[in-house]
Amino acid sequence: EAFNAAVEQAASLNAFIVATPEKALEAADAVDDARASGKDLGPMAGVPIGMKDLFCTKGVQTTAASHILEGFVPQYESTVSQKLWDAGAGMLGKLNLDQFAMGSSNETSYFGNVTSPWRKTGSNADFVAGGSSGGSSASVAARICPAATGTDTGGSIRQPAAFTGIVGVKPTYGRCSRCGVVAFASSLDQAGPMARSVEDCAIMLRAMAGFDPKDSTSLDLPVPDWASALDADLRGKKVGIPREYRMDGTDPEILDSWERGKEWLRDAGAEIVDVSLPHTKYALPAYYIIAPAEASSNLARYDGVRYGLRDLPEGAGLQDMYAATRSEGFGDEVKRRILIGTYVLSAGFYDAYYNQAQKVRALVARDFEQVWNECDVILAPTTPTAAFSPGAQSDNPLAMYLNDVFAVPASLAGLPAMSVPAMLNGDGLPLGLQIVGKPFDEQGVMNAGLAIE
Ligand code: GLN
Repeated sequence: EAFNAAVEQAASLNAFIVATPEKALEAADAVDDARASGKDLGPMAGVPIGMKDLFCTKGVQTTAASHILEGFVPQYESTVSQKLWDAGAGMLGKLNLDQFAMGSSNETSYFGNVTSPWRKTGSNADFVAGGSSGGSSASVAARICPAATGTDTGGSIRQPAAFTGIVGVKPTYGRCSRCGVVAFASSLDQAGPMARSVEDCAIMLRAMAGFDPKDSTSLDLPVPDWASALDADLRGKKVGIPREYRMDGTDPEILDSWERGKEWLRDAGAEIVDVSLPHTKYALPAYYIIAPAEASSNLARYDGVRYGLRDLPEGAGLQDMYAATRSEGFGDEVKRRILIGTYVLSAGFYDAYYNQAQKVRALVARDFEQVWNECDVILAPTTPTAAFSPGAQSDNPLAMYLNDVFAVPASLAGLPAMSVPAMLNGDGLPLGLQIVGKPFDEQGVMNAGLAIE
Protein backbone atom coordinates (compact mmCIF):
# COMPACT_ATOMS: atom_id res chain seq x y z
CA GLU A 1 0.00 0.00 0.00
CA ALA A 2 2.76 2.40 0.96
CA PHE A 3 4.54 1.42 -2.21
CA ASN A 4 1.48 2.18 -4.37
CA ALA A 5 0.95 5.51 -2.63
CA ALA A 6 4.58 6.39 -3.33
CA VAL A 7 4.18 5.38 -6.97
CA GLU A 8 1.12 7.60 -7.27
CA GLN A 9 2.89 10.55 -5.70
CA ALA A 10 5.95 10.01 -7.87
CA ALA A 11 3.71 10.05 -10.92
CA SER A 12 2.08 13.32 -9.86
CA LEU A 13 5.49 14.96 -9.42
CA ASN A 14 6.82 13.48 -12.69
CA ALA A 15 10.09 12.83 -10.88
CA PHE A 16 10.84 9.51 -12.56
CA ILE A 17 11.50 8.78 -16.23
CA VAL A 18 11.77 5.04 -15.60
CA ALA A 19 10.90 3.16 -12.40
CA THR A 20 12.96 0.09 -11.47
CA PRO A 21 11.46 -1.06 -8.14
CA GLU A 22 12.64 -4.63 -8.84
CA LYS A 23 16.23 -3.41 -8.53
CA ALA A 24 15.51 -1.75 -5.20
CA LEU A 25 13.88 -4.98 -4.00
CA GLU A 26 16.91 -7.01 -5.11
CA ALA A 27 19.12 -4.80 -2.97
CA ALA A 28 16.77 -5.33 -0.03
CA ASP A 29 16.86 -9.11 -0.56
CA ALA A 30 20.64 -8.98 -0.70
CA VAL A 31 20.59 -7.51 2.81
CA ASP A 32 18.60 -10.50 4.08
CA ASP A 33 20.98 -12.88 2.33
CA ALA A 34 24.04 -11.13 3.73
CA ARG A 35 22.58 -11.19 7.24
CA ALA A 36 21.69 -14.88 6.96
CA SER A 37 25.17 -15.79 5.81
CA GLY A 38 26.90 -13.44 8.27
CA LYS A 39 28.46 -11.30 5.54
CA ASP A 40 29.33 -7.65 6.13
CA LEU A 41 26.75 -5.13 4.98
CA GLY A 42 27.86 -2.26 2.75
CA PRO A 43 27.41 1.35 3.94
CA MET A 44 24.36 1.77 1.67
CA ALA A 45 22.97 -1.74 2.17
CA GLY A 46 19.37 -1.98 1.01
CA VAL A 47 18.93 1.78 0.57
CA PRO A 48 16.58 2.47 -2.37
CA ILE A 49 18.01 5.47 -4.18
CA GLY A 50 16.99 7.52 -7.18
CA MET A 51 19.50 7.84 -10.02
CA LYS A 52 19.54 11.06 -12.03
CA ASP A 53 18.98 9.98 -15.63
CA LEU A 54 22.34 11.43 -16.62
CA PHE A 55 24.22 8.42 -15.21
CA CYS A 56 24.58 5.51 -17.62
CA THR A 57 23.00 2.39 -16.17
CA LYS A 58 23.69 -0.92 -17.86
CA GLY A 59 20.56 -2.37 -19.41
CA VAL A 60 18.36 0.53 -18.25
CA GLN A 61 17.40 3.36 -20.62
CA THR A 62 19.47 6.51 -20.08
CA THR A 63 18.09 9.63 -21.75
CA ALA A 64 19.54 12.79 -20.15
CA ALA A 65 15.83 13.78 -20.41
CA SER A 66 16.28 14.25 -24.16
CA HIS A 67 14.45 12.93 -27.20
CA ILE A 68 17.75 12.29 -28.98
CA LEU A 69 18.71 9.66 -26.37
CA GLU A 70 15.25 8.17 -26.03
CA GLY A 71 15.61 4.42 -26.24
CA PHE A 72 19.38 4.49 -25.57
CA VAL A 73 20.25 1.52 -23.35
CA PRO A 74 23.88 1.70 -22.21
CA GLN A 75 26.04 -1.40 -22.28
CA TYR A 76 28.05 -0.13 -19.33
CA GLU A 77 27.49 1.28 -15.87
CA SER A 78 28.80 4.67 -14.75
CA THR A 79 31.56 4.41 -12.15
CA VAL A 80 29.54 6.36 -9.57
CA SER A 81 26.40 4.22 -9.91
CA GLN A 82 28.48 1.03 -9.85
CA LYS A 83 30.12 2.17 -6.62
CA LEU A 84 26.69 2.77 -5.09
CA TRP A 85 25.50 -0.71 -6.07
CA ASP A 86 28.76 -2.15 -4.68
CA ALA A 87 27.97 -0.35 -1.40
CA GLY A 88 24.62 -2.15 -1.31
CA ALA A 89 22.22 0.51 -2.63
CA GLY A 90 19.39 -0.42 -5.00
CA MET A 91 17.96 1.65 -7.82
CA LEU A 92 14.36 2.80 -7.48
CA GLY A 93 14.42 4.42 -10.88
CA LYS A 94 15.94 6.93 -13.29
CA LEU A 95 15.08 10.47 -12.30
CA ASN A 96 13.90 13.33 -14.46
CA LEU A 97 16.15 16.35 -15.04
CA ASP A 98 16.56 19.33 -17.29
CA GLN A 99 17.51 18.15 -20.75
CA PHE A 100 21.27 17.38 -20.76
CA ALA A 101 21.32 19.06 -17.32
CA MET A 102 20.76 22.47 -18.89
CA GLY A 103 18.32 24.49 -16.84
CA SER A 104 17.33 25.60 -13.35
CA SER A 105 13.70 24.54 -13.11
CA ASN A 106 13.41 21.09 -14.68
CA GLU A 107 11.24 22.62 -17.40
CA THR A 108 13.55 21.73 -20.30
CA SER A 109 13.03 17.97 -19.95
CA TYR A 110 11.65 16.16 -23.00
CA PHE A 111 9.62 14.12 -20.51
CA GLY A 112 7.84 17.12 -18.97
CA ASN A 113 8.29 19.35 -15.93
CA VAL A 114 9.00 18.07 -12.45
CA THR A 115 6.78 19.52 -9.73
CA SER A 116 8.00 20.26 -6.22
CA PRO A 117 6.06 18.56 -3.43
CA TRP A 118 6.07 21.93 -1.61
CA ARG A 119 3.05 24.23 -1.51
CA LYS A 120 2.65 27.80 -0.33
CA THR A 121 0.71 28.07 2.92
CA GLY A 122 -3.01 28.11 2.04
CA SER A 123 -2.56 27.43 -1.68
CA ASN A 124 -2.41 24.42 -3.93
CA ALA A 125 -0.44 26.01 -6.77
CA ASP A 126 2.63 24.20 -8.10
CA PHE A 127 6.26 25.25 -7.71
CA VAL A 128 9.31 24.13 -9.63
CA ALA A 129 11.66 21.68 -7.92
CA GLY A 130 14.72 23.49 -9.26
CA GLY A 131 17.14 22.13 -11.80
CA SER A 132 18.77 20.48 -13.34
CA SER A 133 18.53 17.73 -10.67
CA GLY A 134 14.79 18.37 -10.22
CA GLY A 135 13.69 14.73 -10.19
CA SER A 136 16.28 14.09 -7.49
CA SER A 137 15.23 17.03 -5.31
CA ALA A 138 11.49 16.36 -5.70
CA SER A 139 11.71 12.65 -4.95
CA VAL A 140 13.90 13.13 -1.87
CA ALA A 141 11.79 16.05 -0.58
CA ALA A 142 8.60 14.00 -1.12
CA ARG A 143 10.17 11.09 0.83
CA ILE A 144 9.83 8.78 -2.18
CA CYS A 145 13.47 7.85 -1.74
CA PRO A 146 15.83 8.72 1.12
CA ALA A 147 18.59 9.83 -1.24
CA ALA A 148 19.35 10.44 -4.89
CA THR A 149 22.31 11.23 -7.06
CA GLY A 150 22.66 14.65 -8.61
CA THR A 151 25.17 16.37 -10.83
CA ASP A 152 26.30 19.95 -10.53
CA THR A 153 27.90 21.87 -13.41
CA GLY A 154 26.85 25.35 -12.28
CA GLY A 155 24.49 24.76 -9.38
CA SER A 156 22.37 21.79 -10.38
CA ILE A 157 22.71 19.99 -7.04
CA ARG A 158 22.66 23.05 -4.79
CA GLN A 159 19.82 25.07 -6.35
CA PRO A 160 17.25 22.23 -6.47
CA ALA A 161 18.26 21.21 -2.93
CA ALA A 162 17.61 24.77 -1.75
CA PHE A 163 14.24 24.93 -3.55
CA THR A 164 13.00 21.72 -1.90
CA GLY A 165 14.43 21.93 1.62
CA ILE A 166 16.97 19.12 1.32
CA VAL A 167 20.76 18.83 1.56
CA GLY A 168 22.92 18.64 -1.57
CA VAL A 169 26.70 18.37 -1.78
CA LYS A 170 28.83 19.22 -4.80
CA PRO A 171 32.24 17.78 -3.96
CA THR A 172 35.60 19.08 -5.16
CA TYR A 173 35.93 18.71 -8.93
CA GLY A 174 37.43 15.26 -9.56
CA ARG A 175 36.18 13.57 -6.36
CA CYS A 176 33.55 11.56 -8.22
CA SER A 177 34.34 9.95 -11.55
CA ARG A 178 32.69 11.40 -14.62
CA CYS A 179 33.04 8.08 -16.44
CA GLY A 180 29.60 7.09 -17.69
CA VAL A 181 27.97 10.41 -16.79
CA VAL A 182 26.49 12.03 -19.89
CA ALA A 183 28.80 15.01 -20.44
CA PHE A 184 27.54 18.60 -20.33
CA ALA A 185 30.61 20.79 -19.59
CA SER A 186 33.43 18.42 -18.74
CA SER A 187 35.64 20.88 -16.86
CA LEU A 188 32.76 21.66 -14.48
CA ASP A 189 30.57 18.52 -14.24
CA GLN A 190 30.65 16.90 -10.83
CA ALA A 191 28.38 14.28 -9.27
CA GLY A 192 27.20 14.44 -5.67
CA PRO A 193 24.61 13.23 -3.18
CA MET A 194 21.20 14.75 -2.43
CA ALA A 195 19.52 13.59 0.78
CA ARG A 196 17.59 14.66 3.83
CA SER A 197 20.52 15.26 6.16
CA VAL A 198 24.17 16.22 6.11
CA GLU A 199 25.04 12.84 7.60
CA ASP A 200 23.20 10.93 4.86
CA CYS A 201 25.05 13.00 2.24
CA ALA A 202 28.37 12.27 3.96
CA ILE A 203 27.71 8.51 3.94
CA MET A 204 26.52 8.52 0.35
CA LEU A 205 29.36 10.70 -0.94
CA ARG A 206 31.89 8.27 0.50
CA ALA A 207 30.24 5.49 -1.49
CA MET A 208 30.29 7.60 -4.70
CA ALA A 209 33.78 9.09 -4.53
CA GLY A 210 37.20 7.74 -5.36
CA PHE A 211 39.93 7.62 -7.99
CA ASP A 212 38.96 6.21 -11.35
CA PRO A 213 41.63 5.57 -14.01
CA LYS A 214 38.86 5.86 -16.61
CA ASP A 215 38.44 9.60 -15.89
CA SER A 216 41.59 11.61 -16.58
CA THR A 217 40.43 14.40 -14.25
CA SER A 218 39.69 12.02 -11.38
CA LEU A 219 41.42 12.91 -8.09
CA ASP A 220 43.91 10.32 -6.91
CA LEU A 221 43.32 10.96 -3.21
CA PRO A 222 42.04 8.74 -0.41
CA VAL A 223 38.34 9.05 0.33
CA PRO A 224 37.88 10.17 3.95
CA ASP A 225 35.18 8.81 6.21
CA TRP A 226 33.39 12.14 6.39
CA ALA A 227 30.37 10.84 8.32
CA SER A 228 32.37 9.65 11.31
CA ALA A 229 34.26 12.95 11.50
CA LEU A 230 31.15 15.16 11.38
CA ASP A 231 31.42 17.77 14.09
CA ALA A 232 29.27 20.87 14.47
CA ASP A 233 31.66 22.45 16.98
CA LEU A 234 33.17 25.26 14.93
CA ARG A 235 35.38 26.81 17.59
CA GLY A 236 38.58 28.08 15.99
CA LYS A 237 37.01 28.19 12.53
CA LYS A 238 36.52 31.35 10.51
CA VAL A 239 33.53 31.82 8.25
CA GLY A 240 33.89 34.36 5.45
CA ILE A 241 31.00 36.52 4.32
CA PRO A 242 31.79 37.74 0.80
CA ARG A 243 30.56 41.29 0.40
CA GLU A 244 30.13 40.94 -3.38
CA TYR A 245 27.34 38.41 -2.81
CA ARG A 246 25.07 41.24 -1.57
CA MET A 247 23.64 41.71 -5.03
CA ASP A 248 20.78 43.79 -6.32
CA GLY A 249 17.71 41.69 -6.88
CA THR A 250 18.29 39.38 -3.96
CA ASP A 251 15.07 38.92 -1.99
CA PRO A 252 15.08 40.48 1.51
CA GLU A 253 14.05 37.08 2.87
CA ILE A 254 17.23 35.59 1.40
CA LEU A 255 19.30 38.28 3.11
CA ASP A 256 17.43 37.50 6.31
CA SER A 257 18.29 33.79 6.03
CA TRP A 258 21.92 34.74 5.46
CA GLU A 259 21.92 36.82 8.67
CA ARG A 260 20.44 33.93 10.59
CA GLY A 261 23.04 31.59 9.13
CA LYS A 262 25.77 33.83 10.50
CA GLU A 263 24.18 33.68 13.96
CA TRP A 264 23.92 29.88 13.88
CA LEU A 265 27.55 29.54 12.89
CA ARG A 266 28.58 32.07 15.53
CA ASP A 267 26.58 30.06 18.10
CA ALA A 268 28.52 26.98 16.98
CA GLY A 269 31.75 28.78 17.92
CA ALA A 270 32.87 30.15 14.55
CA GLU A 271 34.23 33.63 14.04
CA ILE A 272 32.45 35.55 11.27
CA VAL A 273 34.70 37.68 9.07
CA ASP A 274 33.93 39.97 6.15
CA VAL A 275 35.83 38.98 3.03
CA SER A 276 36.01 40.02 -0.59
CA LEU A 277 35.79 37.93 -3.78
CA PRO A 278 36.25 40.83 -6.21
CA HIS A 279 35.54 39.03 -9.50
CA THR A 280 32.23 37.52 -8.39
CA LYS A 281 30.10 39.56 -10.78
CA TYR A 282 32.00 38.26 -13.81
CA ALA A 283 31.55 34.61 -12.84
CA LEU A 284 28.04 34.13 -14.24
CA PRO A 285 28.75 35.59 -17.70
CA ALA A 286 31.99 33.59 -17.88
CA TYR A 287 30.13 30.42 -16.92
CA TYR A 288 27.54 31.00 -19.66
CA ILE A 289 30.36 31.15 -22.20
CA ILE A 290 32.47 28.25 -20.94
CA ALA A 291 29.64 25.80 -20.22
CA PRO A 292 27.94 26.22 -23.63
CA ALA A 293 31.35 26.07 -25.38
CA GLU A 294 32.11 22.72 -23.81
CA ALA A 295 28.53 21.55 -24.33
CA SER A 296 28.61 22.34 -28.05
CA SER A 297 31.66 20.12 -28.35
CA ASN A 298 30.33 17.32 -26.12
CA LEU A 299 26.98 17.22 -27.91
CA ALA A 300 28.61 16.83 -31.33
CA ARG A 301 28.55 13.05 -30.77
CA TYR A 302 24.75 12.92 -31.16
CA ASP A 303 24.78 12.54 -34.89
CA GLY A 304 22.05 10.01 -35.55
CA VAL A 305 24.64 7.28 -36.10
CA ARG A 306 25.85 6.23 -32.69
CA TYR A 307 23.10 6.83 -30.14
CA GLY A 308 19.34 6.87 -29.83
CA LEU A 309 17.30 8.79 -32.35
CA ARG A 310 17.95 8.73 -36.10
CA ASP A 311 15.93 10.78 -38.56
CA LEU A 312 16.83 9.74 -42.09
CA PRO A 313 14.50 11.55 -44.50
CA GLU A 314 13.68 9.78 -47.78
CA GLY A 315 16.60 10.13 -50.23
CA ALA A 316 18.63 12.15 -47.70
CA GLY A 317 22.44 12.31 -47.42
CA LEU A 318 24.58 12.31 -44.31
CA GLN A 319 24.34 16.08 -43.70
CA ASP A 320 20.55 15.94 -44.01
CA MET A 321 20.45 13.10 -41.50
CA TYR A 322 22.57 15.07 -39.02
CA ALA A 323 20.38 18.14 -39.44
CA ALA A 324 17.10 16.27 -39.22
CA THR A 325 18.17 14.16 -36.22
CA ARG A 326 19.58 17.07 -34.27
CA SER A 327 16.71 19.44 -35.12
CA GLU A 328 14.20 16.92 -33.90
CA GLY A 329 16.23 15.40 -31.07
CA PHE A 330 17.41 18.47 -29.14
CA GLY A 331 15.12 20.82 -27.21
CA ASP A 332 15.22 24.61 -27.51
CA GLU A 333 17.50 25.24 -24.52
CA VAL A 334 20.00 22.65 -25.74
CA LYS A 335 20.00 24.27 -29.19
CA ARG A 336 20.50 27.67 -27.59
CA ARG A 337 23.59 26.36 -25.76
CA ILE A 338 24.97 24.78 -28.94
CA LEU A 339 24.50 28.05 -30.82
CA ILE A 340 26.15 30.10 -28.08
CA GLY A 341 28.94 27.55 -27.73
CA THR A 342 29.81 27.30 -31.40
CA TYR A 343 29.64 31.09 -31.69
CA VAL A 344 32.07 31.78 -28.83
CA LEU A 345 34.43 29.09 -30.13
CA SER A 346 34.35 30.30 -33.74
CA ALA A 347 37.61 31.69 -35.14
CA GLY A 348 36.41 35.29 -35.28
CA PHE A 349 35.06 35.44 -31.71
CA TYR A 350 37.24 33.00 -29.82
CA ASP A 351 39.54 35.65 -28.35
CA ALA A 352 36.75 38.06 -27.56
CA TYR A 353 34.61 35.54 -25.67
CA TYR A 354 36.03 32.11 -24.93
CA ASN A 355 39.55 33.27 -24.15
CA GLN A 356 38.30 36.15 -22.02
CA ALA A 357 35.99 33.82 -20.13
CA GLN A 358 38.89 31.48 -19.38
CA LYS A 359 40.87 34.42 -17.98
CA VAL A 360 37.91 35.42 -15.83
CA ARG A 361 37.69 31.84 -14.62
CA ALA A 362 41.31 32.01 -13.49
CA LEU A 363 40.62 35.28 -11.65
CA VAL A 364 37.58 33.83 -9.89
CA ALA A 365 39.69 30.84 -8.80
CA ARG A 366 42.42 33.19 -7.58
CA ASP A 367 39.91 35.18 -5.52
CA PHE A 368 39.13 32.00 -3.61
CA GLU A 369 42.82 31.01 -3.24
CA GLN A 370 43.44 34.35 -1.58
CA VAL A 371 40.36 34.28 0.59
CA TRP A 372 41.49 31.03 2.24
CA ASN A 373 44.16 33.10 3.99
CA GLU A 374 41.34 34.79 5.87
CA CYS A 375 38.73 32.09 6.44
CA ASP A 376 38.04 28.34 6.39
CA VAL A 377 34.68 28.34 4.63
CA ILE A 378 32.40 30.83 2.89
CA LEU A 379 28.75 31.30 3.86
CA ALA A 380 26.41 32.65 1.18
CA PRO A 381 22.86 32.19 -0.03
CA THR A 382 22.32 29.30 -2.44
CA THR A 383 19.82 31.17 -4.64
CA PRO A 384 18.61 34.77 -5.02
CA THR A 385 14.93 33.74 -4.53
CA ALA A 386 12.80 30.88 -3.26
CA ALA A 387 11.27 28.41 -5.74
CA PHE A 388 9.10 30.04 -8.42
CA SER A 389 5.98 28.97 -10.33
CA PRO A 390 6.24 26.83 -13.45
CA GLY A 391 6.45 29.08 -16.50
CA ALA A 392 7.52 32.14 -14.50
CA GLN A 393 11.01 32.20 -16.05
CA SER A 394 10.87 29.75 -18.93
CA ASP A 395 10.44 32.45 -21.59
CA ASN A 396 13.35 34.47 -20.26
CA PRO A 397 16.66 32.60 -20.45
CA LEU A 398 18.59 35.42 -18.76
CA ALA A 399 16.27 35.44 -15.74
CA MET A 400 16.65 31.66 -15.60
CA TYR A 401 20.46 31.91 -15.78
CA LEU A 402 20.45 34.34 -12.83
CA ASN A 403 19.32 31.50 -10.57
CA ASP A 404 22.93 30.31 -10.61
CA VAL A 405 24.56 33.60 -9.70
CA PHE A 406 25.65 32.42 -6.24
CA ALA A 407 26.42 28.87 -7.33
CA VAL A 408 28.74 29.25 -10.32
CA PRO A 409 31.80 30.85 -8.68
CA ALA A 410 32.50 27.65 -6.71
CA SER A 411 31.91 25.63 -9.90
CA LEU A 412 34.41 27.67 -11.91
CA ALA A 413 36.95 27.21 -9.12
CA GLY A 414 36.19 23.47 -8.73
CA LEU A 415 35.54 23.89 -4.99
CA PRO A 416 33.41 21.75 -2.69
CA ALA A 417 30.10 23.42 -1.90
CA MET A 418 26.78 22.45 -0.42
CA SER A 419 23.29 23.72 0.15
CA VAL A 420 21.65 23.10 3.48
CA PRO A 421 18.07 23.99 4.42
CA ALA A 422 17.98 27.22 6.44
CA MET A 423 14.38 28.27 7.07
CA LEU A 424 10.94 28.70 5.55
CA ASN A 425 10.05 32.04 4.02
CA GLY A 426 6.85 33.99 4.67
CA ASP A 427 5.00 31.77 2.19
CA GLY A 428 6.16 28.60 3.92
CA LEU A 429 8.65 27.70 1.16
CA PRO A 430 12.16 26.49 1.97
CA LEU A 431 15.30 28.61 1.61
CA GLY A 432 18.81 27.16 1.50
CA LEU A 433 22.20 28.42 2.59
CA GLN A 434 25.39 27.64 0.76
CA ILE A 435 28.76 26.70 2.23
CA VAL A 436 31.85 26.77 0.00
CA GLY A 437 35.14 25.29 1.14
CA LYS A 438 38.79 24.84 0.28
CA PRO A 439 39.77 22.23 -2.30
CA PHE A 440 39.31 18.70 -0.88
CA ASP A 441 37.80 20.06 2.35
CA GLU A 442 34.36 18.48 2.06
CA GLN A 443 34.68 17.84 5.80
CA GLY A 444 34.89 21.53 6.65
CA VAL A 445 31.96 22.25 4.36
CA MET A 446 29.80 19.51 5.86
CA ASN A 447 30.70 20.44 9.43
CA ALA A 448 29.52 24.00 8.83
CA GLY A 449 26.41 22.60 7.15
CA LEU A 450 25.78 20.45 10.20
CA ALA A 451 25.84 23.54 12.41
CA ILE A 452 23.09 25.08 10.28
CA GLU A 453 20.96 21.98 9.74
N1 GLN B 1 21.42 25.95 -14.35
C1 GLN B 1 22.77 25.88 -14.86
C2 GLN B 1 22.75 25.68 -16.35
O1 GLN B 1 21.70 25.61 -16.89
C3 GLN B 1 23.52 24.81 -14.16
C4 GLN B 1 23.21 23.47 -14.70
C5 GLN B 1 23.97 22.39 -14.02
O2 GLN B 1 24.63 22.60 -13.01
N2 GLN B 1 23.92 21.23 -14.63
O3 GLN B 1 23.77 25.59 -16.97
